[in-house]
This record gives sequence, C-alpha cells and structure tokens, in this order.
Amino acid sequence: SEDLNSRVAALQAQWSTSPAKMLIGGQWRESQSGETFTTENPATGKILSQVAAAGEADINDAVAAARKAFESGPWPKMKPDQRAKLLLDLADLIEKNGDELALIETLDVGRPIQFSRMIDVAGSVGQLRYNAGWATKLTGETHEVSAPGEWLSYVLREPIGVCAQIVPWNFPLVMAVGKLAPALAAGCTVVLKPAEQTPLSTLRLGQLIQEAGIPDGVVNIVTGLGRTAGAALASHMDIDKVAFTGSTQTGRAIIDASKTNFKRVQLELGGKSPTFIFADADLSKAIPAAAMGIFFNAGQVCAAGSRLFVAEEVADQVLEGVAGMAKMLKVGNTLNTDTVIGPLVSNIQLERVTGYVQSGQSEGAEVLVGGKRKEGDEYAGGYYVEPTVLVETKASMKVRKEEIFGPVLCAARFSADEDVEQLAAYGNETEFGLAASIYTNDITKAHKLARRLKAGSVRINGSPGVDPALPLGGYKASGWGRENGKSGIEAYTELKSVTVGLG
Ligand code: NAD
Repeated sequence: SEDLNSRVAALQAQWSTSPAKMLIGGQWRESQSGETFTTENPATGKILSQVAAAGEADINDAVAAARKAFESGPWPKMKPDQRAKLLLDLADLIEKNGDELALIETLDVGRPIQFSRMIDVAGSVGQLRYNAGWATKLTGETHEVSAPGEWLSYVLREPIGVCAQIVPWNFPLVMAVGKLAPALAAGCTVVLKPAEQTPLSTLRLGQLIQEAGIPDGVVNIVTGLGRTAGAALASHMDIDKVAFTGSTQTGRAIIDASKTNFKRVQLELGGKSPTFIFADADLSKAIPAAAMGIFFNAGQVCAAGSRLFVAEEVADQVLEGVAGMAKMLKVGNTLNTDTVIGPLVSNIQLERVTGYVQSGQSEGAEVLVGGKRKEGDEYAGGYYVEPTVLVETKASMKVRKEEIFGPVLCAARFSADEDVEQLAAYGNETEFGLAASIYTNDITKAHKLARRLKAGSVRINGSPGVDPALPLGGYKASGWGRENGKSGIEAYTELKSVTVGLG
C-alpha cells in the first residue's frame, strides 16, 4: 500500500543520512575509531544502513557504564516493583511502536511482515510482561543448620552483576528482549550486542528503553562484528556473565573466552530437531506442521524440525503433502501481507544452504522438491532459496548431522516393527538436543518417546510457539542452561548463604 511504501521510504531515508550510533551510558555515540559496517535488506541485496563498529575501547566504555549503573545511581536502590514497572512501561512502548518495529525487522532480517508483528513484537511484549512479574517474586530461603535457635541461616538471591548478551540474526528483537527482560527483572545491568547483520531493531529498542525511563547505563547497546566487538565482550574481565545465542562454533569460543575471569556462561546453540509422524497421526495437522516446522522463517530457527522420521505406511502421503506445501507456500516480497517465506539473511547463508543441498545429493540423498536459489524477477538480488525436501537421507550424511539453518527438510522412513527405543535412537543420533516433535494419536507411545528423547523441548501433536513461561534450551551441544521460565530469571542470580550465630 501507499502508506507502507512511504513508511519504508522514511526509514530508508533516516538510515541513509548518517551512520547509526551505539548506546553507551545513556549517550548515542559513534565508535571511537570512527569505523562503521553496512547492513543490507536480504530481500533485495541492497545496502540498508551504515552502523558504528565497536572496537575494544567502545566495549570497555560500555562495560564501565554498565558497572557504574550496577554499583551506584538509581538502579541498585530501586525496589523490585519499580523495576517491574519499567519493564511493563517498555512493553507498552514496544506495543505502541509495534508497526514500526515490525517493519524494521522485516527490512533488516527479511522476515515476512505478517510474522514480524506476530513473533518479534508480540513475543517481546510477552517476555517483558512475564519477567516483570518475577521482579517482585524472587526470594531466598531460610534453613535450620543445627539445633533450632543456635544459628540463623539464610540464602540471599542476588543479581549476578554486569551481563554481556550476544544475539544472533534470526530473531533480533525478541531474542534481545528475551535476554534483557530476566536480567533487568533480577537487577542486573547489560551490555547487549546484536548480530552485525541485523542491528536496527535493537537500536530502536534502545530509544524506547530510554523513553521508558530505564536509568542510563543499565542497558548499553554495542554494534559490531563478532570477531572484534563480540570477542572483546566475551573475554572482558569485568563482565560477570555472558548469555549467547548462535552457532555451536561461536559457543565454543565464548566458553574459551569466559575462562579469563570464570564468568558465568549461558548458551543457546544450534539444533537438528526431529519430527516423528506415526501412521496413526492426524495427518491433516501433522503435514502442515512438519512443513512449517522447517520452512517457517526460511528454516532459520534454532529449533526447526529439520529431520523428519515418518512411518512407512503413511510416508508417501506425508512426503507428498509436505512437498505440496513447499510448492504452494508463498515465497516472495517480504512486505506483502500474504508472503509466508522470505529470503535467507545473507549471501553467505544462501551459499551455505545450497552447499548443504549439494552435499546431501553427493552423499546419495534425493531432492523431492526445491533445492535451488529462487529464480525470477521478483527474487532478483534477494537471498531466496526454494523450500526443499531431501529424501532417502541416512544418519551418516552431513545433511542429517549438521545444522543447515535453511528451508531444507531431511526425511527418512521407519517401519512398524521399530520400537520406541529405536526411534529415540534416531532422534538422539546427532550432537544436538534442542527440540523434538511427535505426531500420533497413541498418547502412551508419545509420552514414552518424549521421555527417551534428549531434547530441551518436546512438542506432542503441535506447539503453541515459544512461551516465556516455559524453559527453553538444549541437551548436549545445543547449549548450557535454560532461558525463560523461573529457571531463566534465576540464571541471572547468585546465591549467598549467610549464617548468624545466636548462641
Ligand atoms: P554466530 O554464532 O557466529 O553469530 C551469532 C552472534 O555471535 C553474533 O552477534 C555475532 O556477532 C557473535 N559472535 C561471532 N563470533 C563471536 C566471538 N568470537 N565472540 C563473541 N561473539 C561472537 O553465527 P553466524 O556465523 O552468523 O551463523 C552461522 C551458523 O550459526 C548458522 O548457519 C546457523 O547454523 C547457526 N546459528 C544458530 C542460531 C540459533 O539460534 N541457534 C542463530 C544464528 C545462527
């Protein structure tokens, strides 16, 4: 529509006038070196903005600002209900500015506009409202450690301190807010680094954080490259905790960097999540769920259902159904409200994903549908890949083992005589353990399989999506710790046992 086009033009004009600045100690600043980097619109491949590139000096300043805000000023004196109020006010501001934030996210990430509003904006608001409630409900404990009356012993729950939060490019806003909300509710201060591909919604969030009245220095936003700004943050001696979402490889680098001062580490890494469809499943639900489980967000979802195990009896019907959806789902202009699948985030990601398809073929998998870059005027310059289904995949293949992070489903069949143990072994065959989905009308079988799967989230006959109340994270190489829920906020606290002699 005309209105949408003019809003896009206004944002583009704003981004093209001068490089976007970072938020450090309440000030919007260029990097000290003056260096910048560019971001692009993945739907067109055109440059969208120039952004300050933080170096070590900027990271030092941001950490110092966060330390100062943690130790002095209004933040440490604030009552929990005041912190809760600030989070609720920020949620209202995000809601009020939802159309703009959704549009920024669509332009920067390449997410179709209908999902930016639904996932990024609504998800962020939900995270803040959920975690605001925890600010006033965190408690310590008291204990009897000897004969009653001899000792008073209590356990304090204190905020960890200054936290680095490093976020990837697939869901920039909701992941930033999902990390900030529990940290702030617990009383921590933060240096937040968005991914270099997608910093723009986080910078707009910084303005709303100021508008909400969150004190200066409590949230600092540094934009920059992973190997410079990210690495400087992860190894900084004055950071008490680093929370990271992204690739397993970078997760390892974060662990190494944390050794400098033994900072606490929380990791949400990759996945290779299985979907099981049994012969008795309601296929009218299971087929679209399996398709959207991998094609949604062009497969750039850590918990994407990237491996499909389907019962032999219904395999042809299911695979035909999923392939049919792959052809039918509208791939295209991210600003059209009926577009379902957008581009991948970058050319690097496009090459990575198409490279995986070729690797699968060379190892003997067959392409049932898709497999290539999308051709045609509508896709010119954009990083669009066809929704793809690979069949005849084997556990030994690279495509079955590694996270592709694109719209590529790796399918295999199982037979009626394979029991729950065998199926669980298929589910657990990779180094990852983030999520799993099960479709069957046999609820006993579903629960038995759920118990045996090494996965942080198991979804039986559908999923309500990420809910801030439910712990989220992975077994094995999918990470350390859990975000969301009570465990999510407790992960931003330290325990301190205090004993007082009464005798
Ligand atoms: P990445 O892990 O390198 O980047 C994620 C974040 O980490 C970014 O903010 C980046 O700047 C930062 N970073 C990079 N190197 C760092 C370092 N040494 N120290 C500190 N921070 C650092 O991910 P990528 O290279 O953009 O994507 C590669 C692959 O990672 C994808 O193909 C996909 O498989 C996976 N991935 C997973 C998720 C997820 O949600 N689990 C998200 C993004 C990417």
